[in-house]
Amino acid sequence: MDRETQATVRRFADWRWNEVPLHPYKEDGAAPFRAITRQTLFNDPGFACELRYFEMAAGGHSSLERHGHMHAVLILRGEGHCLLGETVFAVRQNDLVTIPPWVWHQFRATAGAPMGFLCMVNQARDKPVLPSDEELAAMRRNPTVAAFLDG
Ligand code: MN
Repeated sequence: MDRETQATVRRFADWRWNEVPLHPYKEDGAAPFRAITRQTLFNDPGFACELRYFEMAAGGHSSLERHGHMHAVLILRGEGHCLLGETVFAVRQNDLVTIPPWVWHQFRATAGAPMGFLCMVNQARDKPVLPSDEELAAMRRNPTVAAFLDG
């Protein structure tokens, strides 16, 4: 009841925000991801949402997953590709990506440079689901998707 939100300014330098912990992407379980870090920029209980910054090193990628909650993504740095359902999109700095509920999604940085994005999510949200072997095989029948997944 007496919780108070502190007024803060966190300075940005070298693609990191000072005083905001830097985490490996996911600490729990064995989701197939590579070379990606997370900073949670805003998650005050007074908000309904959280804003996180994810950054993939060159050639890195997020896990291929889906879930009932949505993502609002702003590509902040670099370029790469994202898979949304069965479509592969080229994405670059300042592009906006809306990921609806239960759509398979994955982000991949280009081989040459890091890619970073802001991702807004509801604070209350369900856990991501990874594809089964059968679902992955079905996705791979689309050659464009298979090429994307193979990096
Ligand atoms: Mn997700």
